[in-house]
Amino acid sequence: MPELPEVETVAQGLRRRALGRRIATVEVRHAAVIAGSAEEFVSTLEGRRLASVSRKGKAIAVELTAADGSAPRFLLVRLGMTGQLTVTPHEAPVEPHTHVFMALDDGREELRFRDARRFGRLRSLTAAELEKVMGSLGPDAQRVTEAQFLEAMGGRKGAIKSWLMNQNLVAGLGNIYADEALFEAGIHPQSQPGRVSSEKAHQLYKAVRKVLDRAVRLGGTTFSDYLDIEGRPGAFLSKLRVYQHTGEPCRRCGQAIRRIVIAGRSSHFCPRCQPRPHVTAKMRGPRPSTA
Ligand SMILES: [Zn+2]
Repeated sequence: MPELPEVETVAQGLRRRALGRRIATVEVRHAAVIAGSAEEFVSTLEGRRLASVSRKGKAIAVELTAADGSAPRFLLVRLGMTGQLTVTPHEAPVEPHTHVFMALDDGREELRFRDARRFGRLRSLTAAELEKVMGSLGPDAQRVTEAQFLEAMGGRKGAIKSWLMNQNLVAGLGNIYADEALFEAGIHPQSQPGRVSSEKAHQLYKAVRKVLDRAVRLGGTTFSDYLDIEGRPGAFLSKLRVYQHTGEPCRRCGQAIRRIVIAGRSSHFCPRCQPRPHVTAKMRGPRPSTA
């Protein structure tokens, strides 16, 4: 379940290890991880050079330029649940579930895409197609301004946990970092975004940025599958305060961390540090007539 910090770590790794290099050949062993035609994927990528790497939310876009100066293509990478993108020596043993190989330069190293659950996707896009995909996402959670963040919260109903994970509003947060940010800000996951005080909303904005920046610095969180471009796990796991800490004492107050299910996803929180919101909104319906 890679989220923004894991995807950012992979993007940084791609810049470090693959930028400027040429994709000599592309081999697709399992077409299910390619969005669109696998043949087109191969023919539009082969021979191109990795010119830049950008990221929005959990999506990575690699700009690929051609030697003949024709319009650039973009390789869109979505890691899904268990996707791994690594730069690997060609002679290294092939792990199970490795679906795509992209030989770099003389072929001594290659980009490998491995994905056990196969929810991840690779896609070859034109600039216009990429713009459409990225345009459907909300502002990136690491770069969103406070004004954008507060505007996206305004008037929203439903659980703030689900709101934080809605990629069309703010892109990049999943279950782990949404739980951690809400704990950091002291907000119950079932609070309504539109009813959170302006002080708390400000704290949540700060918390999102702080949690993500810290996790990026430590290369993200690895529970089972996530690895960086060199095949190394992230180091943020030990920094998690509530996520998957059900029953353990809160680091701040000692109360046992609780787990509830919101929109089918586990939410972990401290019942004392993140008190349940008042339900006055529901009770404030039309008054019964006394006439
Ligand atoms: Zn607590």
